Amino acid sequence: MKSLWNDQEAAGFSGELGLRVYSSRLLGREPALVLHGGGNTSVKITETDLLGEEERILYVKGSGWDLESIDEPGFAPVRLDHLIALSRLPLLSDSEMVNELKTHTKRASAPTPSVEAILHAILPYRYVDHTHADAVVTITNTDDGAERVREVYGERVVIIPYVMPGFDLARLCAERFPAESGPHTEGMVLMNHGIFSFGESARESYERMIELVSRAEAYLERKRAWSLPAAEPVPAPDVAPEAIAALRRAVSEAAGAPMILHCAPEPEFLAFAQRADVAQISQRGPATPDHVIRTKRVPMLGRDVDAYVRDYRAYFRLHEPRSRARKTMLDPAPRVVLDPELGLCTVGRSPREAAIVQDIYRHTIGVILRAEALGGFRALPAQEIFEVEYWELEQAKLRRGGTPPAFAGEVALVTGAASGIGRACVESFRARGAAVVGLDLDPRVEALHPAPGYVGIPCDVTDPERVAAAFARAVREFGGVDLLVLNAGVFPASRSIAELPLEEWRRVMAVNLDANLEILRRAWPLLRLAPRRGRVVVVGSKNVPAPGPGAAAYSASKAALNQLARVAALEWGGDGITVNVVHPNAVFDTGIWTPEVLASRAAHYGLSVEEYKRRNVLGVEVTSRDVAELAAEMCGPVFAKTTGAQIPVDGGNERVI
Ligand code: ZN
Repeated sequence: MKSLWNDQEAAGFSGELGLRVYSSRLLGREPALVLHGGGNTSVKITETDLLGEEERILYVKGSGWDLESIDEPGFAPVRLDHLIALSRLPLLSDSEMVNELKTHTKRASAPTPSVEAILHAILPYRYVDHTHADAVVTITNTDDGAERVREVYGERVVIIPYVMPGFDLARLCAERFPAESGPHTEGMVLMNHGIFSFGESARESYERMIELVSRAEAYLERKRAWSLPAAEPVPAPDVAPEAIAALRRAVSEAAGAPMILHCAPEPEFLAFAQRADVAQISQRGPATPDHVIRTKRVPMLGRDVDAYVRDYRAYFRLHEPRSRARKTMLDPAPRVVLDPELGLCTVGRSPREAAIVQDIYRHTIGVILRAEALGGFRALPAQEIFEVEYWELEQAKLRRGGTPPAFAGEVALVTGAASGIGRACVESFRARGAAVVGLDLDPRVEALHPAPGYVGIPCDVTDPERVAAAFARAVREFGGVDLLVLNAGVFPASRSIAELPLEEWRRVMAVNLDANLEILRRAWPLLRLAPRRGRVVVVGSKNVPAPGPGAAAYSASKAALNQLARVAALEWGGDGITVNVVHPNAVFDTGIWTPEVLASRAAHYGLSVEEYKRRNVLGVEVTSRDVAELAAEMCGPVFAKTTGAQIPVDGGNERVI
């Protein structure tokens, strides 16, 4: 590992806090040091307050900030003397500690100080850097970890045995550090946790961190435990989407809420999941307290979906008794599932959480494999893991607060997602917390929204193979499909029946009708496994109840689709799946209505464009967003007991009313 310090770059940052920002970002650039909010840094600065009194302030990383992108407001200014006084208390609960940290912060708008703030305060150096470096964690997670650390560092570090992060750890360090540090001390290693470095300047502290971690890496290299052989997994067979959806259903039941399940069949994950000893080495616990993840290796048990659900249910019940979960207020669902066919599956309340778990577990695998090569991976004892999990949950609650969005943990699939009503639906469902898969003929659908909560798949919905592939991808990304919006359709130019060629009729039927049959058939096995029951919204048309001349193919296709939806409502009600239809009319902010077409239609009726747009009973303009919001609400609790319904969104149409 090399120092990334660059004097020119550093010159762009001024003052003690500015350089603290700079070197924190350098740490954040190195994933082998810090991952997703892991690790923290601080600087002690003497300031003069409004009354002219001097006081010592600890600027420590606030929660919710990542080192990679931190800025000055990301550091919470806490009164240093108060923190040092706290470290002498015999006892302080974690919630009391968080309260003290918040109430002794000098800036009202500051983030909550890191829970490791007291630990930073008691170290008598201006700059303090803390990481969960993979190499150090690897060495400490072995049977004779402490001796190895001593062998690597000699007198340069103080070694602290494992204690859960929080007040107890800070108090232990406050006692041990002064007694055990000496003139050669440059750092402090926390067993099963990570490493601290410190210095009088930002550069000194940062470069000591790099140097100390490099030593750990070199030690592993010498022991042939650093460079891992490339993974060579047995190719995994294709897993049926319903099998993955069944796994997610079982995980969601264990969690008590819909969860996103992301499958990553990368070679390194498959190889790890296929190891003969995976059940043993993956169950010994997390690599560091930050990496607390429940790991389950769930064998795939056949191809029968009901059997999957039953077996997974039995599996989780067996391994995670409910009573313990209730006691700890923690959901008993695994966050990591290792499977020889699926590779690594990670679980979260959102796609982002699942992605973070994947990143963390990638590093955990490295730590486990290297520690195995060094002589045997040994993680925290089970009781400690349990306490950390509980504590982590508390922290998560503090960070998040509030109620989760309506569709949190659920997955929506929208067809025709690149423009108009479909695009608006993607936005409405995303706004309600759903992960969304958008399908469209237009390849721009891929990049319309940011990952990881959105996946856009270019897809001709009339091609059954492409549809099957799109569903398979959706399920690998998010674990299932719970909400389905059938929106893709074509609206051909006006043509009388006498002039309507059969090919055009068939083309309209193929897109507006046949494709939706195929999509519904693909979706059904997934919808019935939806953790909160499946919901389908079909975008119909005012033309269903009130057709217009010149639109025979369109009106007939939408009427047939409407009937298909009603039959689906009848057939699927027993599975708890609702199927409802929305009938929009005169939605002009879509691809087909160019300003020229609008102007010519308005002129045809002798109206201005504005009058033409509002030609309905209420005299209002109906937008794509209006339709999308109704579609989303039709998947919400208000419509939980409605199926087979047809709702117009057209400003009121005399022929429909
Ligand atoms: Zn830490």
